[in-house]
Amino acid sequence: MEKIKMTTPLVEMDGDEMTRILWAMIKEELLTPYIDLNTEYYDLGLIHRNETDDQVTIDAAEATKKYKVAVKCATITPNHARMSEYDLKKMYKSPNGTIRAILDGTVFRAPIVVKGIEPCVKNWKKPITLARHAYGDIYKNTEMLIDKPGKVELVYTSADGEETRSLIQEFSRPGIAMGMHNMQASIESFARSCFNYALDTRQDVWFGAKDTISKTYDARFKAVFQEIYENEFREKFESAGLTYFYSLIDDIVARVMKAEGGFIWACKNYDGDVMSDMVSSAFGSLAMMTSVLVSPNGYYEYEAAHGTVQRHYYRHLKGEETSTNSVATIFAWTGALRKRGELDKNVELSRFADHLEKAVIRTIESGKMTKDLALITSLENPVVLNSREFILAVREELDKIYAQTV
Ligand code: NAP
Ligand code: MG
Repeated sequence: MEKIKMTTPLVEMDGDEMTRILWAMIKEELLTPYIDLNTEYYDLGLIHRNETDDQVTIDAAEATKKYKVAVKCATITPNHARMSEYDLKKMYKSPNGTIRAILDGTVFRAPIVVKGIEPCVKNWKKPITLARHAYGDIYKNTEMLIDKPGKVELVYTSADGEETRSLIQEFSRPGIAMGMHNMQASIESFARSCFNYALDTRQDVWFGAKDTISKTYDARFKAVFQEIYENEFREKFESAGLTYFYSLIDDIVARVMKAEGGFIWACKNYDGDVMSDMVSSAFGSLAMMTSVLVSPNGYYEYEAAHGTVQRHYYRHLKGEETSTNSVATIFAWTGALRKRGELDKNVELSRFADHLEKAVIRTIESGKMTKDLALITSLENPVVLNSREFILAVREELDKIYAQTV
């Protein structure tokens, strides 16, 4: 087979630890034998971030604006332990946070559904995509411990000096208080990202918040979604046969449990944080969860939802065998390659992405899998493969698929 050509580069962001090892294996065994891989490479591994004072992360995000599609390996977010482990100049911010701040947007997470890894919710037949707003609310809050009698007020002083206040609570006894905010523009881009992604992936959008209790704050989210839907998306949704609806978050939660999946669940920041862990673990495994950052300006960054699998990496360094699941990282590549193919009208490239995903699913459904899945599969007598063996088994399936299609 002749190698598939790429007209525009993908932005490739390499990362850390075990996922960096998998990254190289995936390229070597599953990509470069089939594709004339055209990437602009940025090494976001912590060593290189430290060497460049984290400039490489900013450069990679800027390159994503230029080329529109990026694929990212998991990276270490430094903490105190990493400061000494990597002899860091400073405690750099999370690369995902830096990239998100530059690209703006919404993170969509969806499970990869295969037979043999059954969701605990028995009626879930199709993936549920969780769209998490990634700005504000309690993640950018101010909190106070109240330890003597007094009152807490919300005060807004406008730039021209006008003051608006409202009483939060009179405290006669100790208590706690918190202030938080969000931005109209950020809520708007959240809504647009959800609706665009829905059109892209042909799924309905469900959005839930608590506007009956939060009559200004959550009500704003509800109103912004509705306005943007009516003004910019209703027609496109109707002609695609898709629907958008808003309901109270508690009603949405109840409906999600009864549904069969196949929709996008838009969540405010905190709801998305909590619910994405619930949805991913109910679907089986963090190692089977894809993640894509979609910016309102049409930039896409694909990655796995899990981290760098540090414990496996330390075993790998000691020369021990690992059985680390590369599925979500492979799907980060296929997501990016398919999107590159769509944007460039490169049918062969998009088809390759479809084939590779099919090969991964067939491999697992034939009983060959990594240890994490073998522990939870409903298939009898699964064959447990190590990290490289699994990737080679996928390659075998991929070759079979190509042999059948020519
Ligand atoms: P993690 O890397 O997701 O791993 C947590 C545990 O989950 C692993 O120890 C492993 O369990 C299991 N696991 C996760 N992915 C797996 C896979 N692909 N195959 C098999 N098992 C898998 O989370 P962490 O250990 O909390 O974080 C490690 C580093 O990743 C941290 O430095 C953190 O900053 C970073 N991180 C990065 C991102 C990102 O770049 N998007 C996201 C989260 C965390 P067992 O050890 O029991 O097998
Ligand atoms: Mg969380």
